[in-house]
Amino acid sequence: MNKLQILVVEDDQPVRNLISVTLKANSYKYITAKNGQEAIMQVSSCNPDIVLLDLGLPDIDGVEVIKTIRSWSNMPIIVISARSEDSDKIEALDNGADDYLTKPFSVDELLARLRVTIRRLAIIQSNNENGKSVFTNGKLEIDYAAGCAYLDGKELHLTPIEYKLLCLMSQNTGKVLTHTFITQNIWGSARESDVASLRVFMATLRKKIESLPDSPQYIQTHIGIGYRMMKVE
Ligand code: CA
Repeated sequence: MNKLQILVVEDDQPVRNLISVTLKANSYKYITAKNGQEAIMQVSSCNPDIVLLDLGLPDIDGVEVIKTIRSWSNMPIIVISARSEDSDKIEALDNGADDYLTKPFSVDELLARLRVTIRRLAIIQSNNENGKSVFTNGKLEIDYAAGCAYLDGKELHLTPIEYKLLCLMSQNTGKVLTHTFITQNIWGSARESDVASLRVFMATLRKKIESLPDSPQYIQTHIGIGYRMMKVE
């Protein structure tokens, strides 16, 4: 596999250097941008594989950078936010970011997020090539055409909402989906009551697909933000 190229967008020089040194030490290629304008220019001229994007930039808001990139590209974007408020991350995710890191973060956290994103990239690429109608992840299998899901070869008895939820999560494996995004897709609305229903359906779905529902393997919870399906080896 060719070395992946990562665009690091960060106005704070010490943080930018720390990320760059970490990437270099772990055999990633990287380019950098100090602000939003430079970021958009680098994305269009270098077409990086992954973007690491600080949300607090001096010129344009990070969310605007996401919207601009998303107008022509699906490249994975991991946002970095110094702000502890979940609302910034949620806005970034709802506008197409794939994942988030909260400052201060450790080098290990950064590398772990990159690995999740690289797996997601591999899934996107193989789906584009095959146009697959069967999804497999660990012991989980979904036959989208037949409308059936299996765990360890046994058919799962899911309610229509549980099945819809499982499909939505599987089609976005590796990406953090916000409560709003999920409820909009399942119920067409995002009221408080929909988020409460989502928790209930997620709990019943987990009982059916997770061997240990309290330490789920397939679907991660991001408290106050949403859920993500992980790629299981
Ligand atoms: Ca900043």
